[in-house]
Amino acid sequence: MEIKNVAVLGSGTMGQGIAEVFAIYGYNVKMEDISDEILNKALKKIKESLVKLEQKGQLFGKTSDDVMSRISTYTTIENAVKDADLVIEAVPENLDLKKKIFAEAEKFVKRETIIASNTSNIRITDIAKDLKYKDRVAGLHFFNPPVLMKLVEVIKAEYTSDEVMEILVDVVKKIGKYPLKVMKDTPGFVVNRINAPESLLFCLYIDHKVATQEEIDAYFKSQGLPMGPYELMDYVGIDVVYDSLEYFAKTLNPCYGKCNTIKELYNNKMLGMKTGKGFYDWSKGRPFIDVKKATDKVSMMDVLALEINEAVKLIEQGIATPEDIENGVKYGMNRPYGPISVAKSFTSMEIKSKLEELASKFNCDVFEPAESIKNGLLRDAIEGRLKVKGVEEKKVKEEAKIKEEKVLSAQQFNTIKVEKYESKVAKIILNRPKYNLISGELLDELEKAIKYLWNDPEVNVIIITGEGNVLSAGADLNEFVGSSFQFLENSRKGERVFQLLSEMPKLTIAVMKGYALGGGFELSLACDLRVGTEDVQIGFPEITLGLVPGWGGSQRLSRIVGLGKAMELIVTGQRITGKEAYSMGILNKLYKNPDEEVMEFAKSIAQNSAPVAVAMAKRLLNKGSQVPIDVGLEMESFAMGVLFSTEDLKEGIMSFLQKKKPEFKGR
Ligand code: NAD
Repeated sequence: MEIKNVAVLGSGTMGQGIAEVFAIYGYNVKMEDISDEILNKALKKIKESLVKLEQKGQLFGKTSDDVMSRISTYTTIENAVKDADLVIEAVPENLDLKKKIFAEAEKFVKRETIIASNTSNIRITDIAKDLKYKDRVAGLHFFNPPVLMKLVEVIKAEYTSDEVMEILVDVVKKIGKYPLKVMKDTPGFVVNRINAPESLLFCLYIDHKVATQEEIDAYFKSQGLPMGPYELMDYVGIDVVYDSLEYFAKTLNPCYGKCNTIKELYNNKMLGMKTGKGFYDWSKGRPFIDVKKATDKVSMMDVLALEINEAVKLIEQGIATPEDIENGVKYGMNRPYGPISVAKSFTSMEIKSKLEELASKFNCDVFEPAESIKNGLLRDAIEGRLKVKGVEEKKVKEEAKIKEEKVLSAQQFNTIKVEKYESKVAKIILNRPKYNLISGELLDELEKAIKYLWNDPEVNVIIITGEGNVLSAGADLNEFVGSSFQFLENSRKGERVFQLLSEMPKLTIAVMKGYALGGGFELSLACDLRVGTEDVQIGFPEITLGLVPGWGGSQRLSRIVGLGKAMELIVTGQRITGKEAYSMGILNKLYKNPDEEVMEFAKSIAQNSAPVAVAMAKRLLNKGSQVPIDVGLEMESFAMGVLFSTEDLKEGIMSFLQKKKPEFKGR
């Protein structure tokens, strides 16, 4: 079904904004409210906003009058909804009122009309409970102001059909917004749920007299937030905050009902900016907060830990994906980062101990760590590897055995990331949109990363993997359409960088997952060891394009699988699976979750094998296979001579005799 006609019920702050957005994008909008007076005020506000957009050239060539002509107003639901394809309810946040409006709308709409609520927090399933056709009801949660905010949460209630979800996601994209798919109905959905524990914390800070509101606001402003938390609550409205906390107390956790200060303000009608008084006195305008008064009794880490915790709970419950949560918080709160990217800098242990500290200090189990954080699976959760809901505890514990490694430092390039771990393992992660295709820029950055790690005494083993589920589907063919000279240069660059990689004095391991095709396969072959999944697709499709593997693949493959098999794979362009590659000796190990399991493998080599001996062994094997055996044997004796003088040899022998674990220094 194509949406053309939209009815918006309620023309307050949100209703008028939603009506304006749909009209800008060419939809016919019928706006309804309880009186013409209210509707006329709404029309006036919409016109003012459109004029501003028109002056900035943001109406796609239309005039504000063109857009206004698409909006008509009504004082009865019947007239507003009867030919609507989509009805959006934006009346005050009250379950009984919303249920009444939905029941009324259902009487007059067509069977296929979708009815959506813009509620901030109320479960859509509860609003739809008594309706006849519940499959067409969903949530469509805009953010204030709808014209500017890029996010819309699309909420699947218990009975919402998949088709309705698809239509809504599509319409949200058509009005230029990001649709965050909330796959299970939950109070507060995603963004407001992420916010809920920190609102509770801010209230408890004051109740427990941790510091004064000015001192805490000053601290958060000194950390770069545009508004302190209490100033913000006053701005939003103490009644709105109080109602949300009460709703969460009823539906999520009774701890949300613990806030005494906010209850007092609410009961005394001190509702913040709109009544002139709340946490602050607003009678003379916005309160002045002196950042010099910042307290050290609270910390940004409290808030970050709570956001990460709530994000992980949403992932565990299958409510939204990590990507949607990250984008939702960025777009819904207008921030440059979300909890998922922040979580990457912490270990489960760090977040867990902060949360346990907060839970015990405020005697509040809302702050208790999520299961995955307790079990050391923060990484799995934020990287989307958690078996969502119904994960038996046993399984969680088994997986927790693969301990999280502490990132010592991370470097972000444009197309790759480099992470160094405590265990003397480093990771180079290819990070390009769409299958990590290898571009000229990626090769340049890979070269820099190789040189950066070349002599690093803190690194013994380097893992090369791809962001997401794919190593690399090959070279970026867009770069192959230039001149033949460019083509040659590109080819030489790949050859040079992969050769450099193969000559590194550290052990390298490629993680082959998803696709390792063309250049991605050549990159793997330039590594010393390869691990991967049973179903990874491996191959050299070059021949089918009129090329040959040009980044060392034509030479390296035969050294591993022999001439006959290499010939077959290269001249047919045939793909093989990880399982087949393992039987040919291309893959050293098969793993289910290669990025996790390879860490254990890499760690054991990094810690148990003497680094200089590893570098020597690597050189002997790689170079030795290219020279006559007597030359190779000569090289071997030479290597033994060099190793004889290393401290590591003494350490190795002494440790063996004393039956203790050696501590190699790499010299
Ligand atoms: P608002 O008070 O500004 O507007 C509500 C409008 O509904 C008013 O114009 C009122 O006259 C009208 N109304 C009341 N009873 C009605 C009825 N029976 N029939 C038709 N219209 C009726 O409220 P708002 O801020 O626009 O919020 C509306 C909804 O959107 C709420 O559920 C709220 O939680 C949600 N929301 C608000 C924000 C925000 O920042 N304001 C953001 C996201 C979602």
